Amino acid sequence: MGLLSIVVPCYNEEENVNCFYEELMKNSAFFEREGLEVEILYIDDGSRDRTAEKVKELRKRDDRVHLVCFSRNFGKESAIYAGLQKSKGDYVVMMDADLQDPPSMLPEMFSYLKDGYDSVATRRVTRKGEPPIRSFFARMFYRLVNRISKTEIVDGARDYRLMTRQVVDAILQMTEYNRFTKGIFGWVGFSTKWLEFENVERAHGETKWSFWKLFLYAIDGIIAFSTLPLALASIMGVLFCIIAFLLILIIVIKTLLVGDPVGGWPSMVCIICMVSGVQLFCLGIVGQYLSKTYMEVKRRPIYLVKEEE
Ligand code: UDP
Ligand code: MG
Repeated sequence: MGLLSIVVPCYNEEENVNCFYEELMKNSAFFEREGLEVEILYIDDGSRDRTAEKVKELRKRDDRVHLVCFSRNFGKESAIYAGLQKSKGDYVVMMDADLQDPPSMLPEMFSYLKDGYDSVATRRVTRKGEPPIRSFFARMFYRLVNRISKTEIVDGARDYRLMTRQVVDAILQMTEYNRFTKGIFGWVGFSTKWLEFENVERAHGETKWSFWKLFLYAIDGIIAFSTLPLALASIMGVLFCIIAFLLILIIVIKTLLVGDPVGGWPSMVCIICMVSGVQLFCLGIVGQYLSKTYMEVKRRPIYLVKEEE
């Protein structure tokens, strides 16, 4: 049927490199039956453990395994981009090294490509094994971002996706520096089949995402796929003008009716604090967009390769 490229971003995953390979190879019979050749691209995102050595050992046994090492940690989004660029397959699938994206789903995913879908995506329907506060904020994020962005960003979507070459090429055309992959997939369109699965916990090691990192990532996502926050400044400006106008009216009428008793400075202080707070908040929003634009304008490479085999 053709060549299947499997892209595996790895950051400090020495224990998972082999497990992942073994688990993937349980599908060998399926690959053979479909006449699929396979290439496995491990993208080592600047790991500080023995991830690269493990992949090299694997490569000695199986030359379908390939390794791309970054010069430092560039983040998963960069690793995905590199993997898509290096892939030669007619079909490409992206999977985490920690086995949270079960390779056993591949045959089912493939069947949908045969049915004519351009890409098959997965989402987890439970968040079992995750701190409740994290799930809560995640849900809030998806609700917010989908309300203010035209691009659909699916709740619980994983980066586990099987795509045809056409979709991969479309994604590669998006060379932006601030890469929010979940949004990019939605943005390119094409017909996508969604498969659902129960959350699987990591095989070994720990997640690389702290709460703070996720929070910043959420802001990146909002900024990358919506400009509505920028309009917030104008909306608030109009709102405050209306309030000010009403207050002026009230004060003038009150002064005409009952004279002019001096007072009201505490309320004045409160108003000044509030209005300057709103102004700084709006300035901050503009600042966020400016900083992203700044990084974008620099046109720095998305990743740098140290070694490749
Ligand atoms: N990863 C990466 N670079 C990073 C962080 C993570 O390549 O800077 C890889 C990691 O090795 C794993 C995948 O991205 O294969 C998902 O990471 P993780 O399991 O920590 O995220 P989670 O599944 O908790 O969302
Ligand atoms: Mg994981």
